[in-house]
Amino acid sequence: MITTDSERDWMSPILGSWRAQRAWVLAHQLAIVRTAAPTGNESARAALLQRDWHHWGHIVARDHVGNVITRVQPTSMTVEHDRAPVVCLAHLDTVFGADVPLTVRRDGTRTYCPGIGDNGRGLAAMSVLARVLQHPAVRTRLRRAVELVLTVGEEGEGNLRGATRWFDDAAGRGIVPLAAVAIDGPGDRSIVHHAAGSRRWRLTFTGVGGHSWANAATPNPVHAAGACIAAIARLAEASRPYGVVTVTRMQGGEHLTGVPMQAWIDVDMRSLDPDRLRTLSDEVRRIATRAVQDESQRMPTQALHVAITTLGDRPAGNIDDRHPLVIAAASATRAVGREPQSASASTDANVPLSRGIPAIAIGAGGSGSASHTADEWYDDTDSDIGLERVIRLIVALGMAERL
Ligand SMILES: [Zn+2]
Repeated sequence: MITTDSERDWMSPILGSWRAQRAWVLAHQLAIVRTAAPTGNESARAALLQRDWHHWGHIVARDHVGNVITRVQPTSMTVEHDRAPVVCLAHLDTVFGADVPLTVRRDGTRTYCPGIGDNGRGLAAMSVLARVLQHPAVRTRLRRAVELVLTVGEEGEGNLRGATRWFDDAAGRGIVPLAAVAIDGPGDRSIVHHAAGSRRWRLTFTGVGGHSWANAATPNPVHAAGACIAAIARLAEASRPYGVVTVTRMQGGEHLTGVPMQAWIDVDMRSLDPDRLRTLSDEVRRIATRAVQDESQRMPTQALHVAITTLGDRPAGNIDDRHPLVIAAASATRAVGREPQSASASTDANVPLSRGIPAIAIGAGGSGSASHTADEWYDDTDSDIGLERVIRLIVALGMAERL
């Protein structure tokens, strides 16, 4: 059993000092969000944090994809160094392109800036963890290493690239973490232990095309795409609520008076259940093949083709609310006076969850909204509560003999 609240006595000076440093944490958060980090171009923000962490006495590495990694080892002589580590992740990237102005605006208790909560808050909390874990009172109590990883490519078409790389590398070294915790956005209640999986495909239909009068019988990619959309709409009806499939974009044709040579549709599929996600994508593939066959029947010599390109692939996975990791997170939540809430989302925790490694995602304190928009805001009121929850949980996991 992992305890978080019985440790209150020795931890209270450390927690108290972070309550007193709320202004520093917010200033650090603002410095982070003012440094642009579009998905695929996170190096300036990575360098900023690498420099700070180095300054605080950490050995900080960058891996081949650009993740920033530091490992805090226990100092106790009685701990074997090959114990499964606890890994804590926060994504560096934002959905905003390099052209989006990162202007900070205050309005009452709210601070507006693209990326301020997601994931400026999570990154600021990781810096606090980096400093807390350096504390001698913490390090002597650790029973296993805690690895802090700032990941690249979490958002959108980044496809959890950084987290995937870290878990691939760890597996290559024979390391199976005890638990993984993603720190993502504000909040002090929710515990994400269901990872929503998603697949995003582009289906491209191609044919020889022709004149719309002279070659009227030529198989038509736009017609095939239309039939495919109609069938996907029926599949969507049948799959809800356990699986969601949506045609999100479409384009096709070249001329007003020609049988088109090409059409494409983008399909977004989601589910909490990995098997259902697989079934859903098998169905979409079957529907596309069928649409092409039906349209090509008239003139098999000019048969259409369909190509499927993967635009996004995020694996699903989950642990239930009686899992020791969820119980530990719930206990840390109650220890700070909040009522825990189960949640589902798509975060860096998808990667470990899909590989059978216990993982959750939690917020890093404060509140906020409008993430992924230029109007994103963050409210620092009571932010020390969520930050204390993060510290309690990670220290408790680092001190745990087992899960
Ligand atoms: Zn995020």
